[in-house]
Amino acid sequence: MKTISNCFIGCDKSIEKSDLLIFGAPYDGTSSFRPGSRFAPDKIREASYGLETYSPDYNMDIEDLNVGDIGNLELPFGEKNKVFEEIKNCTTNLLKMNKKILCLGGEHLITFPIIEVLSSIYDNLKVIHMDAHADMRDTYISEKFSHATVLNNVAELIDQKNIYHYGIRSGTKEEFKKIAQYGNFNIKSDELTEKIGDDPVYLTIDLDILDTSVLPGTGTPEPGGFTFKELSELLRTFKGFNFVGADVVELTPDYDFTGASSIVAAKVVRDTICTIMR
Ligand code: MN
Ligand code: MN
Repeated sequence: MKTISNCFIGCDKSIEKSDLLIFGAPYDGTSSFRPGSRFAPDKIREASYGLETYSPDYNMDIEDLNVGDIGNLELPFGEKNKVFEEIKNCTTNLLKMNKKILCLGGEHLITFPIIEVLSSIYDNLKVIHMDAHADMRDTYISEKFSHATVLNNVAELIDQKNIYHYGIRSGTKEEFKKIAQYGNFNIKSDELTEKIGDDPVYLTIDLDILDTSVLPGTGTPEPGGFTFKELSELLRTFKGFNFVGADVVELTPDYDFTGASSIVAAKVVRDTICTIMR
């Protein structure tokens, strides 16, 4: 594993001491519209230094938490299977040490190898999926494994009924049919809490859930999305869950020359850390 000098702000604990470990998966090999999410992990870390470690929304200071950052995986861009192997190895190693994980993407496909490992360990894994897009296609541009099919691949591992979708506003008619099948779409927090119970939960946040005006720096921007406040408030309703991991994906920082998208992404990461660790 490659290490970096700049960790996410306040997440400077050693591997041994950490309960949660951050790692970057800078892969954007199937990005169809605006590639560049490979640059996201380091831009998110850099932007995090403009934030405080204290979150008034959670009344938590991430500096007080046992969170570390092990840097980015070195991924061979053109070799999807090798990318999957690297992500799976890292996830397996961290889980063996009883760590929770937080992966900074990269494109959304990086979620699949992580869930592959988690679902082999936990029978009853639940996934909360936040996204503008359903990502439920069977194939996309002849590819079974792509950012546009990733949740369909996840559904083959853990069953569609264990996936809870939020924010989706783009997809094919068939995809919308699939996500509506078990009624797990934009459900209220008390219903979600009841359905999830004590089961292990993985949270995947595709940043394009946010409106294009809030986060223009993303691979496939989709108007009509959440404000930052709406996303942040939704995250705070995920209370008392047994989170085993999360990812934040699809920032393409260089499409937003103001740098604001990276700052927004960094704050989503800080909220995610608080959500997992409280
Ligand atoms: Mn997605
Ligand atoms: Mn998306």
